Parts: sequence; C-alpha cells; structure tokens
Amino acid sequence: MRARDDGVIRVEDHGDGVWRIEELYALPYCRGAIWVVDGSDRRLVLDAGWGLVPLDRCLPELFDRPIVAVASHTHFDHIGGLDRFANRMVHPLEAAILADPNPTAVQSLPFLLDHDTLAFDPVPGGFDAAAWRLPAMPATATVAEGDRIDLGCRVLRVLHTPGHSPGHICLFEEATGFLFAADAIYDGLMFDTLPGASVPELLATHARLAALPATRVFPGHFEVFDRARLVYLVDRYRREKSA
Ligand SMILES: [Zn+2]
Ligand SMILES: [Zn+2]
Repeated sequence: MRARDDGVIRVEDHGDGVWRIEELYALPYCRGAIWVVDGSDRRLVLDAGWGLVPLDRCLPELFDRPIVAVASHTHFDHIGGLDRFANRMVHPLEAAILADPNPTAVQSLPFLLDHDTLAFDPVPGGFDAAAWRLPAMPATATVAEGDRIDLGCRVLRVLHTPGHSPGHICLFEEATGFLFAADAIYDGLMFDTLPGASVPELLATHARLAALPATRVFPGHFEVFDRARLVYLVDRYRREKSA
C-alpha cells in the first residue's frame, strides 16, 4: 500500500500500519471511511464504502495480503463494496442484512432519493440511485462483544456499540489505544433518527467509549481526533440531547 489520490480514490497513510481509503465521489457525511489495519499475518479492512468503483479493480495492492473484512454496521455507505472480500464479518444483529442487502435494509432508499450524496458521478453511464441493488454477501463469520481479532502481532477487541444501528461495532486496540469508532462517534452531525437508531443506546455507547484509554479515534466519517476531542464530542452530544 502507498498513499495516493487519483481524484476518485484517496489512500492516506496514518502510520503504524493504519491506512484510510476514501471514495471521493461521495460527500463526506455519507462517505464511509474504509480503514485498513496491517498485522504481521493478516490485513483487516473495516468497512467497504459504497463500492461504485470496485476496489479490486482500482486498488489491487489492497488485496496482496490475506484479508479479514469487517462491517462496523450495514448502512449502504459502509458495505457497498464488501462483496469484493472473501472473508466478511458482522455482528449477529445485522447478519441478515448482509445476506439480503435490499435497499430498505441497507437504508439506501429512500435516503438516496431525498438527499444530495455524490460529489460527482463515478459510474460510466451514470449512477441510478433508484435501481441500485447490492449483491447478497452473507457473512462468513460473526463477531460480537469481547471477541478478539488477531492479525498477528496486533489484536483488535470488538465492542458492541449500538445506538447508530442495533449491531454497530467498534474495534479497539489496547496496545496502541487506537479506537476505530465507525459511526458510533465522529466529529460531525450524528445520525440518530434512522430506523434502528436509539438515542439512549447511543448515549450509553458514548459513555463507554469516552471511558476507554483511547489515544486516537479513527471514525467512519470526517477527521481523526484524539481522546480530548472524543470526551468533548461525547459531552456536547449528551448536553444537546438533554436540552
Ligand atoms: Zn456512515
Ligand atoms: Zn451509518
């Protein structure tokens, strides 16, 4: 892997074997980050974006190691490209959605018809939001609270973090304090009214994340931040919801 930006796909090197792949055609609020974590034995890919430009075609070097792909949750902007990975993991509460990722289940419709989501259209012939269907991509394994994903010389612990969605998970690396938070918390407007979302559950998830000895937070959208910002964001959201 190497950092690059071809105007469609950007690969950022975050150091310590952590990379972010971004699909620049999606607007940031619905551009699910694809996080890559390299261990000595395996590469973890957390989330798979929209997949409108297949990663195996435009970024073949991503696939030059054994990969375990994990879905933080099953919204369309996080699992669109997951079918390109042979080993796919998800929390049991959202496994049925991967097996049948219809537009209602992945929440692509009616959302795509009601919102601006693309910065530009990357699909030859044009992206047809109304007709977009993801292929079935059943999980090859499930992951739940407390599971450890061993990549060789580094281990990520699974945290079940509902609130944004019922089976949402975060990954935490105790050795480094790296928290891969996906859509549980990021530095932007939280989506907490979607089907399956729960503000009380999200508040509980936030309290849990803020108590972790995190050093860096790698979110599902927007920029990376530190623990001080995490605590600030958690507090700000809690105050908003109790106002
Ligand atoms: Zn998202
Ligand atoms: Zn989401």
